[in-house]
Amino acid sequence: MALEQLYQEVILDHYKNPRGKRAVPGAELSCSRNNPLCGDEITIYAHLEDGAVADLGFEGSGCSISIASASMLVEAATGRPLNEAQDVAVRFRAMMAGSVEPDEDTFGDLVSLTGVRKYPARIKCAVLAWDVFQEALSGAGDATGDAPH
Ligand code: ZN
Repeated sequence: MALEQLYQEVILDHYKNPRGKRAVPGAELSCSRNNPLCGDEITIYAHLEDGAVADLGFEGSGCSISIASASMLVEAATGRPLNEAQDVAVRFRAMMAGSVEPDEDTFGDLVSLTGVRKYPARIKCAVLAWDVFQEALSGAGDATGDAPH
């Protein structure tokens, strides 16, 4: 199977069976954002315990790339210490920008999203959940609340 086809299968699997697509009870951190270019909307919920991302979930709607990326984020960041989770987010962005090599040991299914690097407009779909995640972790989401969009 060609690599590109394999990547598409991985993305479709996450899109059809998203991991952690639910609100997290008792989440201290949550944040929502949308990608007006595509119409994607993602809300991230995080529950922290002992400096780690103990529970993570998301809600939202959008294209297959944005939903698959959020599902992969849940898989990649749940259970990690906060600094490690933030590091994955930074490295994922770098990978999507082309400055970090896709490495399956580090990124798991996330490497499949490098297939969209050829389509600059879709990169925004792929990083949306990570934008929201990083904002939620920074606590900035608390201040904005349910801001109208
Ligand atoms: Zn999209």
